[in-house]
Amino acid sequence: MTKVVKTATATVSLSALRHNLQRVKQLAPQSKVLAIVKANAYGHGVLAVADALAELADGYGVARLSEALALRAHGIRKPILLLEGFFSVADLPLLLEHDIETVIHSDYQLEALESAVTTNNKLDKKIKVWVKIDSGMHRLGVNLDQVDTVYQRLQRCANVDPQINFASHFSRAEELKCGYSEKQLANFEQACDGKNGERSLAASNGILYWPESHFDWVRPGIILYGISPTNEHLATEYGLKPVMTLSASLIAVRDHQANEPVGYGGNWISGKDTKIGVIALGYGDGYPRDVPSGTPVLVNGKRVPIVGKVSMDMITVDLGADSCAEVGDEVIFWGKSITGEVLPIEEVAKQIGVISYELVTKLTPRVITEYS
Ligand SMILES: *Cc1c(COP(=O)(O)O)cnc(C)c1O
Repeated sequence: MTKVVKTATATVSLSALRHNLQRVKQLAPQSKVLAIVKANAYGHGVLAVADALAELADGYGVARLSEALALRAHGIRKPILLLEGFFSVADLPLLLEHDIETVIHSDYQLEALESAVTTNNKLDKKIKVWVKIDSGMHRLGVNLDQVDTVYQRLQRCANVDPQINFASHFSRAEELKCGYSEKQLANFEQACDGKNGERSLAASNGILYWPESHFDWVRPGIILYGISPTNEHLATEYGLKPVMTLSASLIAVRDHQANEPVGYGGNWISGKDTKIGVIALGYGDGYPRDVPSGTPVLVNGKRVPIVGKVSMDMITVDLGADSCAEVGDEVIFWGKSITGEVLPIEEVAKQIGVISYELVTKLTPRVITEYS
């Protein structure tokens, strides 16, 4: 055996990542950029991503206090916003100590801030807060008729920074004709009207499709990683560059006879004599187990179908009887082959019936991440 067998590897292009942030700035030239790096930067490695964007991003958005603290421990100094806010009154000293901004969406958070004022009134620092407004998604946020009350209560909190910002989130921004985003925009604008805080509504789909939603801050997540927010379009159509390539190697190439099954359950049966390639990547690396036979991968830049069940540590593909593929040859699950061929993640996600967000965030620590 001459070739080196590579274990499951996510190769992340930091220059593509920076290109995508520049592209966001072109699309939203008047807005500051809160780079969304929750869930380990969508599986791309949060610390490397945060460092790579340090000069370009105006701040970072995360979903958990632990994610914010990891960024601070790493030396990140830019603003960090907790997109779902803090979960407990015990978190407040950490927010103050580490200068972490928070969304406020519920009464319990407001009460925590109000009680912290009385118990911590020696603290001279102020917490920067964003009122999360439910403009129509009906997942998280203050109801429209409560925004004024919440705003006034926050203004009275001694430990709250007097510049109170506003955020909301679209639920159907990729449906350009459904009329719902217009309604959310109007609700958001009306709720913020007459208040002088900064505003933020657009995530990736708002950045791409709703320029009128860009306001003071945009919050790009998936497009930073060079992935379209829907499977119906490729990110490259918007001038974005794919950031991650997921690859592994063939660890076996086996002659296989017609009418013989492959893998658990024996559900896939070859109609002809062929060669089966076995790849060292499986659902234990985060590739979905439930993929239809025929889902493509690239072997040496050529599309071949997955056949049989995805196992924890291996995947089998039908290389075809004439294949010259050998042990150690490169297999791409999404991204770019050394031959230059590309397998877009959006196409893979569509074939599998998931969204690309799931594919990248579900990669497990067993996958080695390399930066290029
Ligand atoms: C995750 C998230 C984003 C980023 O969404 P994308 O679709 O990945 O751009 C923006 N805002 C909030 C509140 C989020 O939770």
